[in-house]
Amino acid sequence: MVSDALISTKPTPIPTQEEDSPNPSSALLPFSTDSSSSPCQTQKRTTTVVFIALLVVTSIALSAASAFAFLFFSHSPYSSSSSQSSKSSASAAHVESIARPLTKLNHPVVLLISSDGFRFGYQFKTSTPNIGRLIANGTEAERGLIPVFPTLTFPNHYSIVTGLYPAYHGIINNHFVDPVTGQTFTMASHEPKWWLGEPLWETVVNHGLKAATYFWPGSEVKKGSWDCPKGLCMYYNGSVPFDERVDTVLSYFDLPIDEIPVFMTLYFEDPDHQGHKVGPDDLEITEAVANIDRLIGRLIQGLEQRGVFEDVSIIMVGDHGMVGTCDKKLIFLDDLAHWIEIPGSWVQSYTPLLAIHPPPGVAPSDVVTKMNEGLGSGKVENGKHLKAYLKEELPSRLHYFASDRIPPVIGLIEEGFKVEQKRTNRRECGGAHGYDNAVFSMRTIFIGHGPQFARGQKVPSFENIHIYNTITSILNIKGAPNNGSSSFPSTILLPNP
Ligand SMILES: [Zn+2]
Repeated sequence: MVSDALISTKPTPIPTQEEDSPNPSSALLPFSTDSSSSPCQTQKRTTTVVFIALLVVTSIALSAASAFAFLFFSHSPYSSSSSQSSKSSASAAHVESIARPLTKLNHPVVLLISSDGFRFGYQFKTSTPNIGRLIANGTEAERGLIPVFPTLTFPNHYSIVTGLYPAYHGIINNHFVDPVTGQTFTMASHEPKWWLGEPLWETVVNHGLKAATYFWPGSEVKKGSWDCPKGLCMYYNGSVPFDERVDTVLSYFDLPIDEIPVFMTLYFEDPDHQGHKVGPDDLEITEAVANIDRLIGRLIQGLEQRGVFEDVSIIMVGDHGMVGTCDKKLIFLDDLAHWIEIPGSWVQSYTPLLAIHPPPGVAPSDVVTKMNEGLGSGKVENGKHLKAYLKEELPSRLHYFASDRIPPVIGLIEEGFKVEQKRTNRRECGGAHGYDNAVFSMRTIFIGHGPQFARGQKVPSFENIHIYNTITSILNIKGAPNNGSSSFPSTILLPNP
């Protein structure tokens, strides 16, 4: 309780969103524009000519690929099977400047779907006609959605529905200890004291509207105006078949039109489940992705049967990506003993987020200095792939500081590496997430489909804290203060007429 008071719920200004993917053409520029009359030499000219030739070939290949992609989408049987023909969809992408009117519903409805651990790029692993249909006729973050740090399930799902970074919504890890009360948060903790901020279901109910949650971290927490109403708020049970979840959500559209919840969530544990077990490149992932696509197909079909598919705003996201972890990519804390002994009792989480809470009397700055001395000495196996920080000295872009719940010492681990306490003979291969959110493999998907999402629109990557304002904007309700930008929705949504 005390700790809640210590944690500021005041949002911080958000840094300007920048597209962080390098532009490959500008990277080539210094070479391709080299027209200097320096005495150079045939060899250099030859290199330049070869380079230009390669560039031309690459350009042709890229053009062909784009043309192929265009043909795929514009002639996809899935887009033509929608109520709009593929031809009108393609042309609509050029002329759409305002939101399409609702045809059956009398108010906007947002269905927020999470496919856990759906790494950006999984959609290309296999034929995903239904997800492809949402993309072709909707708006997509072209290079994926950026999760918040740490790129873990609970912090990210709760950021998506509150618009807050974990330091502000309080769920700073999947497991953590409150330093003031000594109590432990786990993924089964439903006491409202842990869950700060105002999630979308609460915002919706505050406006006298109805929300329905078919699983979402935090949705079972009775907080403020949200009392997790029976029949509309499902208590988490991972054994409920995915098809049943879809069918239940569809059944909400059979309610009298004024009783249809305006905001619904739908959650699938896959393909995260498989990703941890076998890593992102296994056939099991491909199968899980195909199954998620099948479920999206079941959903679309059910909405079409009810005549509401074009009216519902479907937002499909994941919470984070996945990267393979295997073999020798391990760092052992016991290997640092020459510089500092870090007992397991200090460590709140090992990997991929190393979180250390030294006891009173041990200065965190001393721990950081000694750890980094050891890690940088060249004598600790894989030491250069881990760096310790005082939390207040972490890169500010991580926004991982302003909460007492965040332990004082945080280790950033390079993609694919893992930290363990001591050497064992165990060698396991699988997948992990939780790394720096600037790592591309941690990205997930964002697809928006519905009246306010332009068809065939691609937008730059953005952080998931902007989704809260996007949804309140679609629902035309005032949201709670949060870390998202208030102008963001206008960059991704068509204005209402
Ligand atoms: Zn997850």
